[in-house]
Amino acid sequence: MIYPWHENTWQQLITHWQNQPNAWLLLGKDNTGKVAFARHFAQALLCEQPNEQHQACEQCPSCHFFSQHNHPDFYELTPRQEEDDTTSARKLLQIKIDEVRDVLTQLTQSSLRGGRRIVLIHPAESMNVQAANALLKMLEEPPEAVIFLLVSNNRDRVLPTIKSRCRPLILPAPTVQQAQDYLHQQHGEDIPAHLLAFHSNAPLFDVQPEQDQLREDLLALLAKPRLLSFLDYANAFDKQKLPLAKILDWLHKWLIDLALTQQQMSPLYYPHHSQALAQLAKKFNGYVLFSLIERILTLKPYGYHSLNVKMQIESLLIDYLNLFTKKA
Ligand SMILES: [Zn+2]
Repeated sequence: MIYPWHENTWQQLITHWQNQPNAWLLLGKDNTGKVAFARHFAQALLCEQPNEQHQACEQCPSCHFFSQHNHPDFYELTPRQEEDDTTSARKLLQIKIDEVRDVLTQLTQSSLRGGRRIVLIHPAESMNVQAANALLKMLEEPPEAVIFLLVSNNRDRVLPTIKSRCRPLILPAPTVQQAQDYLHQQHGEDIPAHLLAFHSNAPLFDVQPEQDQLREDLLALLAKPRLLSFLDYANAFDKQKLPLAKILDWLHKWLIDLALTQQQMSPLYYPHHSQALAQLAKKFNGYVLFSLIERILTLKPYGYHSLNVKMQIESLLIDYLNLFTKKA
């Protein structure tokens, strides 16, 4: 199954079907259905009786195995949490070299069903450097009839040497209307419309009511900044064992909305707080705002490191408070 907003890309893809590279790099925004597209593509490549439009038949043994998630010539590499690892909630999960090597070793043997073999890797940027280098060796001398499908949310974080071995395919994000229609169709009235704005109009986001509530608590405090409530919040957030990356994202989006509001533009991420943003926009120090945004951008690469999360949040929120107290 592919999403409606990928239909045109699929049509373009099948017009050049015979000319398959050894590796594709599927690129696009997070939560817009890229992996679904890649799996659809993989099934079609593996199908033993595809139709003239290169659609998988859904009937042949290969399609049957694929739908049961046990096709012997289809490999999927994605970061997995180790079962006994209780400290991983704040870590960025990676695809490790052993997992890549394991697949590569199997590729040196022959195909089990005698046809193509497909390796799906997502997100490609989650391979650590060793894993990416192991893959690179295979991409330099690709085995017969193996197609790699790499999926990435961020092409800048994929090693250039890997990128240069792949044919890029850009998967478009849905329009705002398509995203709204999809969300409505899936969830009806159960999901507040403003959540789509927060998720940058990418409709396949995970619904996480507890995090949404924690974020709304923060927004209420940002609307009426006070030191003591900030310190309490830092403590409460820390207890949830969420990564610093979360709050950096929430706060970054708020600051962008604040800057937009001051320029008489509509907020992008928190439209349901437009009144509070308008109140705040009257009285903040623009210089402090931009230095705070810069600080957040500097911290973002460390969003999944084991920094002292509570201390970082306290310090960021105190900086935020300075927006309204420091004279320009
Ligand atoms: Zn089939």
